[in-house]
Amino acid sequence: MSALSARAQLAFLEKIQRLFDEGEFSATYKFALMLTLTELAIELGGDDDAELALPLDAVAERFALLYWRQASSYGPATDEVENGILLQNLGKQAAVINQILEIYNDVQGNPARAPGHPQWQRTISDIRAIVHNMPLRHLQVIGGQTDRFLYDYPCTNKVLILKRGVSHNLRRFSPLIQQLAKAGWVQHIRGNRRNAPLLGKKDDLESFMFGTPRAQLARIAPILSQMQDKRCFYCQGKLHSQAEVDHFIPWSRYPRDTAHNFVVAHRGCNNDKRDMLAARKHLERWLDRNDRSGRELGERMQEQGFVSNIGSTTEVAKWAYGEAFRMQGFAWIETRRQTEMIDREYVALFGVG
Ligand SMILES: [Zn+2]
Repeated sequence: MSALSARAQLAFLEKIQRLFDEGEFSATYKFALMLTLTELAIELGGDDDAELALPLDAVAERFALLYWRQASSYGPATDEVENGILLQNLGKQAAVINQILEIYNDVQGNPARAPGHPQWQRTISDIRAIVHNMPLRHLQVIGGQTDRFLYDYPCTNKVLILKRGVSHNLRRFSPLIQQLAKAGWVQHIRGNRRNAPLLGKKDDLESFMFGTPRAQLARIAPILSQMQDKRCFYCQGKLHSQAEVDHFIPWSRYPRDTAHNFVVAHRGCNNDKRDMLAARKHLERWLDRNDRSGRELGERMQEQGFVSNIGSTTEVAKWAYGEAFRMQGFAWIETRRQTEMIDREYVALFGVG
């Protein structure tokens, strides 16, 4: 358990808030970098106050993935934006978009196929250099002063070391940091007047930037349904036409679509569960499902354009339940909002005491 004092946590949060309020953002890179560091702390870090070494290639890959959806056209071409792709920079388009664009087009936008592209390694190493020279250099400049509270810089071009306590704080405050970073990113895109004709009167910017199109989710419902014997993942009742794809670890806690986090459920069960974590019996079933059919599920979801990494999806679940246990949270059992407290036995399912 943590030795971080409440005072140290508060000081960390204040710096994060100042970073967003007073940092300089001529491009959206810093938002993407904060999201990257937070997600990787969840997937690779632990609940101690140790330093965390992040391979810069992993940082670059996540960075690319965060821009992936946004490399598609938001709308028809305008005078300012000939390809209809949102501008991520006040000047010319951000280099990272240009870097991934060719691969994006070659693999028809399927991120699961990107790593198999012949140019992928080369692109990641170019993006690594961009991240190293731009957002990593500038992220910790707050109000004109440099405060290296997250990591030392310059760092090598191989590994970024998050300082003691940083990974732990990112894990703990991840929902808040994600919200701040996403809101700032959306605001930056909106605030760029050259994007204005492209944005028009549409109001789906945030879901375009960070979500999965409904049509794409609808395509996986029958696949999941078949793998679940046409039964609701939660109540085990027969599924009918109104089945909905559900994020087992709710989107509000970890806003990224990954293959093994999907289940299909009755609309009623899905709506009742909402943003809660599922109770132990569901968690056991989910872990068991991924154990037994994880490979097949991963492959089928990849075909539908979703990234598959069972190891990191399990780490995300372990983190989500660990945090909920620490905060004495409740889990959803079944409809009419029946809940139970998340106890140590939940955490033990992940093989930790
Ligand atoms: Zn159900």
